[in-house]
Parts: sequence; C-alpha cells; structure tokens
Amino acid sequence: MKTKSDVHKREDIYLDHSATTPVDPEVLGAMMRYFANNFGNPGSIHQFGRLAREAVDRAREQTAALIGAAPDEIVFTGSGTEADNLAILGAAAAAKPGKDHLITSASEHHAVLNTCKYLESKGFSVSYLAVDATGTVDPDDVRRAMTDRTLLISIMHGNNEIGTVAPLGEIAGAARQRGIPLHTDAVQSVGKIPVAVDELGVDLLSLSGHKFHGPKGIGALYARRGVPLAPVMFGGRQENGLRSGTENVPGIVGLGKACALARRDLPWQMDRLLEMRNLLEKLIREKIDAVRCNGHPFRRLPHVLSVSFRGVSGDAVVRELDRRGIAASAGAACASGTPQISHVLAALRIPEDYASGTVRFSLGRGNTEEQLAVSVDILAEIIQRLRDK
Ligand SMILES: *Cc1c(COP(=O)(O)O)cnc(C)c1O
Repeated sequence: MKTKSDVHKREDIYLDHSATTPVDPEVLGAMMRYFANNFGNPGSIHQFGRLAREAVDRAREQTAALIGAAPDEIVFTGSGTEADNLAILGAAAAAKPGKDHLITSASEHHAVLNTCKYLESKGFSVSYLAVDATGTVDPDDVRRAMTDRTLLISIMHGNNEIGTVAPLGEIAGAARQRGIPLHTDAVQSVGKIPVAVDELGVDLLSLSGHKFHGPKGIGALYARRGVPLAPVMFGGRQENGLRSGTENVPGIVGLGKACALARRDLPWQMDRLLEMRNLLEKLIREKIDAVRCNGHPFRRLPHVLSVSFRGVSGDAVVRELDRRGIAASAGAACASGTPQISHVLAALRIPEDYASGTVRFSLGRGNTEEQLAVSVDILAEIIQRLRDK
C-alpha cells in the first residue's frame, strides 16, 4: 500500500488504537530533554548520570502507582513483547527441578503463545486452555490443568482482538492455593480500565507504553517481591539484574508520564470510551444487517469493538475503509494480510460466513461522535457494495 504523504489529512479517522496510539504531547514534551541536554547514563555517578537516574526513578514510581505496585517491583523492558518473554522464560529459568509445565489459553497474544511454543521445543509441556464463545477462560479449567509440575499460569487480562476481560481474580485464587505464580499480559487493559496487581492477585504483569499514548519500544514487567524470576538478558545487571542494557531513559520517562496521565484521566476517559463504543455499535446495527459483535457482552475493554459482517472479507473491508481515510484492523494487526481466521476468532467458533468478515475498531481519546457517524455511513456503503458483488 502506497502512502500518499508522510502527514495525515485532518479528515482521516484513526480507529485502530489497539494496534498503537499517538504519543500524548505532554509525554513527548517530558521525553525531549532526555534526548538532548539530560543525555546521561543512569549508571554514571556524576551529575549527568544522577539526572538520568532521578528521571528513571520518578518514572518507576509513576508506573508502579498506576498499577498499585511498589517501585522496586517494576522492571523496564524494551516492549510489551519483551515483558511477556521475561515473565515466561524467566519463570521457566527460575523454576525448581521437576517443574516443567505451563498453563495458558488459546487466545493469548503471540508474544505469549510463541514463547510457550519455544519452551515446548525445549522440553516443557504447555496446556493451552480453550475459551468459551465470549472468549472467556473458565477458572475451573485452570484449576483442573494445574499439576505439581506447573511452574506458571499465564492468562491475558484484556484480549487485543475482541476485548474480553478475563476473570483473573478467580484464577488467582486457585493459583495461590497451589502456590503457582500467575502472569497476565495486561498490555491492552493498562491505561484503559483500572488495573491493580493486588486486586487481580497476579504475581507478574506486562504492560507497554505505546498502547496508552506513551512511546513505542518501552514496556515494563511487574514482578511481585519474591516471585521466582531469572534474567533472560545478561550484561551490566541494570534493572535489579533482570534486564541488562543501558536504560532507555527517554522511553522510560515517556512511559512514566503516560502512566501518570492515565492515572489522572482514566475514570472519565473510560466512561467516554465506553459511551463512544456503544454509539459505534448502535450505529452499525442500525445501518447494516447480518452483523455479530464479538467478545463478552459486558466483561470487555471499553475501547474495543470486534464486529463480524456476514458474507464479506474483513481484509477487503479494511482496505476499502483505508481508501476512504479510515484506519481499522481485520483481526489482529499482526495477522492482517493472511487470509485465514485469526487464532482468537477461531477459538470463539464463530460461524464461518461471519468469522472471515471480522473487523476490529478500537477507539481512543482523539475520536469524536461525528467521526463515528461518518465512519459508519462509509462502512455501510462498503459492506453493501461488497455484498452485492
Ligand atoms: C501490543 C500487544 C503486545 C505487544 O506489545 P509491544 O510493546 O508492541 O511489543 C502484547 N500483548 C498484547 C495483548 C498487545 O496488545
């Protein structure tokens, strides 16, 4: 696909916030100094280093505060993907002899699924739990899958394709009884809905800056004090020895600022996103027939609307929307371009003639009601045309 120019037109409409979000101007402002004047290495003892170290410490506090953790439980990583890798590979590396089993679900992000597959190739065994038609893992299935060999349970908090939020509290209760650490990929939920590590009962939690108006290339892993975790990256022993490599100071500052903004604005923004999502769903149902909305009816992230249109190709819809300046996604962003139904939609067992026509709209703070009305008018036209073919 050719890009017309490197600047978007004002009338372009971005409805793909689950893929990434624009960096907040306040976040960008906070980061700039740490590219230029305050360029120090936080590991240096002189004033240049001290300034950088102070900035990293502040960001650690801001990140911890958003999720109800202590600052020393935050490990900055290079992405949400890396946080998932550190949680899973790090737990496997730290596991006692005889612990060689993991439990996860069929609808996880590839950062979790492919890391588990890698461990399988190294001799570990993994239970991939099925989800029900709403995309929900049954806590009883988790309970039944636990064995004396289980070293980690990894169940995502909010699903990136359909928005379903997992019943983590119940799963955590079962995990705690057996003394098995629980990891959650909360990359989609952090900054969108309240996320508190003690309330969720998780021991490890991944988040990523660029999904909530921070920069790309920075993430964090929350690791509860005492949870067995070994590093997967070796070097200068930064981040408590858990993530060697000179700290990405501007990225960390940006993530911290994004966390502070999320903490301040989350309550009203969550309500606004939900209102807009409900409006989008209402408009779609009014103007287009033979549609199904995917995910849990109410246990769902407020910004995600996954809709299946009967008898069309989701990819074709997304391409036609793009021609009209509207950005959405067919299935997951990383699965686009492949004609087969994503692993998440497949896990839901949606009827075939609907599943291939799935489009994910994901809203953000920049969207307006007017944009949604314009988008649905264009969408209705596109679906009509594709169905008439
Ligand atoms: C985006 C995403 C990731 C990966 O985060 P990156 O920072 O892009 O590597 C992992 N899990 C979920 C659920 C995501 O949506």
